[in-house]
Amino acid sequence: MDKQLLSMLVCPSCKGKLKYDREAQELICTFDGLAYPVVDGVPNMLETEARHMTAEEKLERASGAASTDV
Ligand SMILES: [Zn+2]
Repeated sequence: MDKQLLSMLVCPSCKGKLKYDREAQELICTFDGLAYPVVDGVPNMLETEARHMTAEEKLERASGAASTDV
């Protein structure tokens, strides 16, 4: 995904920065524990479409163990 586009995107819920998970094709908000799907390179920033991450996933993201690449 376009880095410039990514840098402009914020979480619609908390206005925080998002992490791009290239493997999962999701934009992650660690604060809310939401994962926004990226479909064909286009992020779907609807809160209603976002996936709620499990507690385990949140821990993983927080510790930086996930393969995020911004
Ligand atoms: Zn958020």
